[in-house]
Amino acid sequence: MSAIVIDGRVVARASRDKTAERVREFVRVNGFAPGLATILVGGDPASEVYVRNKRTAAAEAGFVDFHRHLEATASERDVERTIVELAADDTVAGILLQLPLPDGLDRSALIECIPPTKDVDGLTTLSQGRLARGTVGLRPCTPSGIIEMLDFAGIDIAGTNAVVVGRSELVGHPAAELLLRRGATVTISHSQTRDLRSVTSRADILVAAAGIPGLIGAGHVKPGAAVIDVGIHRTENGLVGDVLPEVAEVAGWVTPVPGGVGPMTIATLLSNTIWAAELSIAGGASI
Ligand code: NAP
Repeated sequence: MSAIVIDGRVVARASRDKTAERVREFVRVNGFAPGLATILVGGDPASEVYVRNKRTAAAEAGFVDFHRHLEATASERDVERTIVELAADDTVAGILLQLPLPDGLDRSALIECIPPTKDVDGLTTLSQGRLARGTVGLRPCTPSGIIEMLDFAGIDIAGTNAVVVGRSELVGHPAAELLLRRGATVTISHSQTRDLRSVTSRADILVAAAGIPGLIGAGHVKPGAAVIDVGIHRTENGLVGDVLPEVAEVAGWVTPVPGGVGPMTIATLLSNTIWAAELSIAGGASI
C-alpha cells in the first residue's frame, strides 16, 4: 500500500488565491490595502527565511508590507514599543512576532502586547481562550492549516481517534483543540508519554509535532491512517520531518516535507490577516 500524498502547495495555492481575491475586494470597497506587520528580532537564519517567505506571499496577495527587523540586542522595551507603534496604525491589519525570540526576552509578555484583533498568529491569551471555548477568534496558523489539509483530502474528522504528538502552545495544543472541536476523540502525547508507539498506533489521524527528526516510523502508524508531519529539520540531505518515509507504505495519507504543512502555515496567516482587516472595518465586533 502506498499512501496518498496531500500536497500542501496545491491546498495553499487555492487558499492564497482566495485571499488575494478578498484583498482586491477590500481595496475596491475601502480604498486602501491592509497591511501585515512582521517583526523579526535577531538574526536566526531559519527565522529570516520564514519571515522572508511570509512577506513575499503577503505582498503577492496584495497586502502592504510593514516589516521591522530589530537587532538581537534589542531590549524587551524596544520590541514592545515596536508592537505598540504598529498596533496604533489603522492600516496594519495583522501583527506577527516571529518566534523564537533571543534569550532574555519574555515571549509571553510581548505576545500579550499584540491587540487580539490583530493577533494573526492566534497566540495571545484571549485568542487561545477563545479557541478553548470554541468561540469566534483568530486561530494559530499551523494547526488551522492542518485542518484545511484534512478537509481538502476529504477526511471526515468527526468520530476519528486523533493523536497529536507534541503539546506546544504554537502547534500541538491548538491542533488538538481544533481536532476536538471537529468531533475527533483526541489524545495528546508529549515527552513524558510512556510507550509512544502504543498511543500513536491507535490513531486514525496522527499529527507529528515533536520536533524530532524521524520520530514516527511505520510501526507507530495504524494502517490507513492520515499522518500529518509538522516537523521541519535541516539536514545534509535537505529538509526532513518528524515522520520517516517508510510510513507512506502503511498510512492512507501522508504530508510531504517540504511542501506539506509549511505552505499551509503561510496560507493561513494570509487568510487570518484579511479576516482581521475585514473585521476591523466592520468595527472588530466579533474579536
Ligand atoms: P516545541 O515547542 O519544541 O514542542 C515540541 C513538543 O513535542 C513538546 O510538547 C514536547 O513535549 C514534545 N515532545 C518532545 N519529545 C517528544 C517525544 N519523544 N515524544 C512525544 N512528544 C515529544 O516545538 P513546536 O514549536 O511545537 O514545533 C514542533 C516541530 O514543528 C518543529 O520541528 C518545528 O520546526 C515544526 N514547525 C513547523 C511549522 C510548519 O509550518 N511546518 C510551524 C511550526 C513548527 P514536552 O511538552 O513534554 O516538552
